[in-house]
Amino acid sequence: MTTDKKYHSWLQELSGENPLIIAGPCSAETEQQVLETAQGVKNAGGHILRAGIWKPRTRPGNFEGVGAIGLKWLQKAKAETGLLTATEVANPNHVELALQHDIDLLWIGARTSVNPFAVQEIANAMQGIDKIVLVKNPVNPDLALWMGALERIEKAGIVKLGAIHRGFSSYKKMPYRNEPLWQLPIDLKTQFPNLPIINDPSHISGKSENVFDIAQTAIQLKFDGLMVETHIDPTNAWSDARQQITPESLENLIENLVIPNDKVFNPDLLKSLKILRKEIDDLDVELVQLLKNRQQKTEEIARLKFKENIAIYQKERWLDILQKAIKNAQENHINQKFIEQLFRSLHQESLKTQHQVFKDLFEK
Ligand code: PEP
Ligand code: MN
Repeated sequence: MTTDKKYHSWLQELSGENPLIIAGPCSAETEQQVLETAQGVKNAGGHILRAGIWKPRTRPGNFEGVGAIGLKWLQKAKAETGLLTATEVANPNHVELALQHDIDLLWIGARTSVNPFAVQEIANAMQGIDKIVLVKNPVNPDLALWMGALERIEKAGIVKLGAIHRGFSSYKKMPYRNEPLWQLPIDLKTQFPNLPIINDPSHISGKSENVFDIAQTAIQLKFDGLMVETHIDPTNAWSDARQQITPESLENLIENLVIPNDKVFNPDLLKSLKILRKEIDDLDVELVQLLKNRQQKTEEIARLKFKENIAIYQKERWLDILQKAIKNAQENHINQKFIEQLFRSLHQESLKTQHQVFKDLFEK
């Protein structure tokens, strides 16, 4: 993907320096619901009205969207409020119908962006159109797949391009509906520095009460905007009822978001930042040195194990290390989960190192 393009210009035209707000119901249900929500989104300060017309549902038998009639409701909402409109497209027919109804923003959903064939068909149908196109991350945490989908759309000549981070599904029971795995959208930003990235806190949190926290985190991480599912009557929504918020809550959310200030000129603050950053850099050097020392110890241990033909993996020892690390974390008031993850990763690396030592000794 060419990185010199100014993908941000469409976004700045709509929201200036503020986060872009795309809001609206998970699904269009009735004309009245769409029109009332649109009014609420407009009053709250939103820029674009979203509504799903064709709904990809995990299991059959659930509400699968009102279909093309909903596009007419979106057109009417646009005429009444002046908001731009957005909907999800999952095949060329959806693209064609959305274009016929003058929808301004088309997004590709997480269940579609996993499939290069489907994305390519959609890209072909979009050839040369002057609409905003956003690509949600695939349901699985695969950065290349997300980038590939974006590249297919870009190759169709779309210049008003962007990505939506909606989190990644997991088999484990998690506090989130979809794990955010923030490093992935950050990596996408590094790969495509000019590409706007919108965060979807609704599909990440899965719960209306957690939408704000995710949204705030995204803004701190310099996301360019938010897509927030908003419904006039969330409890009775026909899809994703648990995660939708009212237009009033949306207004609160927008008002309470703390936008980081990048233009820091205060010389004292800049000086303190510089000192602290230098201290962190020094600590990082020490950390790597410590890890190197630790690795050398595991190599020595591996040589002893090899001599006596002892298995590399020692369950008791590993559980002992983990337990000590967790206790240490507790005593030092440092996040236990983080320490646990770190030690799992250290242990994995230690096993790898020991295998390598065994291999080298075998070959001697
Ligand atoms: C949606 O936005 O309503 C939707 C279906 O989202 P996702 O593709 O992220 O699951
Ligand atoms: Mn939804």
